[in-house]
Amino acid sequence: MTVQASKSVTAADKIDLDAPIFDPAAFRLSDEQAAIIASARELGQSVFAGRAATYDRDAKFPTENYRDLHRSGLLGIAIPKKHGGFGADYQTYALAAAEIGRYCGATALTWNMHVCSTLWSGPLADDLEMDAATRAEHERRRAVHYRRIVGSGAIYSQPFSEGGAAAAGGVAFGTEARPVDGGWIVNGKKIFASLAGHADYYGVLCTEIVEGEKASRRNTLYLAIPAKTDGVSVVGDWDPLGMRGTVSRTLLFKDVFVPEDAALMPRGVYFQAAMRWPHMFLTLSPTYIGLAQAAYDFTVRYLRGEVPGTPPVKRRMYPTKQIVVAQMQIKLEQIKAIWFQAVTEACANPSKEQVLRAYAAQYSAMEGANELATLAIRTCGGQSMLKSLPLERIYRDSRCGSLMLPWTAELCLDRIGREALYETGESDD
Ligand SMILES: Cc1cc2nc3c(=O)[nH]c(=O)nc-3n(C[C@H](O)[C@H](O)[C@H](O)COP(=O)(O)OP(=O)(O)OC[C@H]3O[C@@H](n4cnc5c(N)ncnc54)[C@H](O)[C@@H]3O)c2cc1C
Repeated sequence: MTVQASKSVTAADKIDLDAPIFDPAAFRLSDEQAAIIASARELGQSVFAGRAATYDRDAKFPTENYRDLHRSGLLGIAIPKKHGGFGADYQTYALAAAEIGRYCGATALTWNMHVCSTLWSGPLADDLEMDAATRAEHERRRAVHYRRIVGSGAIYSQPFSEGGAAAAGGVAFGTEARPVDGGWIVNGKKIFASLAGHADYYGVLCTEIVEGEKASRRNTLYLAIPAKTDGVSVVGDWDPLGMRGTVSRTLLFKDVFVPEDAALMPRGVYFQAAMRWPHMFLTLSPTYIGLAQAAYDFTVRYLRGEVPGTPPVKRRMYPTKQIVVAQMQIKLEQIKAIWFQAVTEACANPSKEQVLRAYAAQYSAMEGANELATLAIRTCGGQSMLKSLPLERIYRDSRCGSLMLPWTAELCLDRIGREALYETGESDD
């Protein structure tokens, strides 16, 4: 496998590259994994870091970064090699995404939405049950999506949230797909739809209406709706606290015809995935591992008087600073350890212990990143939180992690507590 360098990444030769978050030897990564992850780190540090402040200030989508992701091959990171991608597995993708998140949270989070369309329809779907004819049809359809991404740099998004209980997995999606000749007519609304107005395809979860049946999660469809289709519109503004470059505006679907080939998964397979492959919902966390590392890196550099654009004043000699850095390092290692273990054991039908660990890893990454950013600001002091420096953006971006459905920090606590105390089918009635 050849990892191509982006043409715009010549700056990587001139800067001192950061050490990887997960050292390939210490974490037993293959050379191939290390090369893919290193290419993400180099692109992030040498190119994305310099653009991040502008995307954040203007709440502007990182279009230029997506061109670089395409040029470097990372847009197709999880696409099988035989279709022109890097063929990365779940763990490799997660580690690469953490490196991107270290330098630009909004790029990493939106890249996650894009990559999931290939990861879920790819290696994850390969683990699930389908009869031979359905699998052959799925193989044919996903090749169409792969070609668009590898060939033309098409960008996919993942608008699931509707503002009700559906995105948390509680009820069927309110966005409806009514079967018609050759496809479906889709109607509905998605809120917080990252990449709205910038993706070429919206990977929408919706409920297929079956005559005479109540709307059911079992009938969830996962459809890649072309952004330019009649009846698709983007409404509302986007001026949030953090993750501003995600441009997560509202999407409306009004009598949108969607052809059968738009299905990213065959009928019933998304529901099967949600039941049997729970780590599919852990993919929002790598961004925040990157932000946790970034908060720590900034603190060490700042206290050593080495942050570009600041006077070379050292503050590292104060015992109070040293204690906070020690606390941050311990916290970071704890987060990294549980998270690495959880992304390494992602598979179909995980054990109860593995599922509980995945919730705990998600919670640790999402809450931990913001705890580290909070400690960083407190110990570095007032000058460190000026908008000319990345720390205050890291702080705001990291605040958003625990709000991401379906595994918000609250829902992780809720599930861990319940599932640790009750076996399947048990109740106190
Ligand atoms: C920067 C950013 C980007 C996003 N991008 C996307 C995207 O691309 N696609 C997408 O689909 N969504 C996206 N989201 C949306 C996100 O996943 C949530 O849907 C969104 O934050 C709205 O959730 P809410 O807090 O209003 O949800 P509510 O449903 O009002 O939930 C509020 C809180 O209540 C708790 N809660 C919810 N349901 C339950 C329950 N059944 N039991 C117990 N507690 C519960 C949760 O902790 C939740 O945080 C994004 C959000 C942010 C902040």
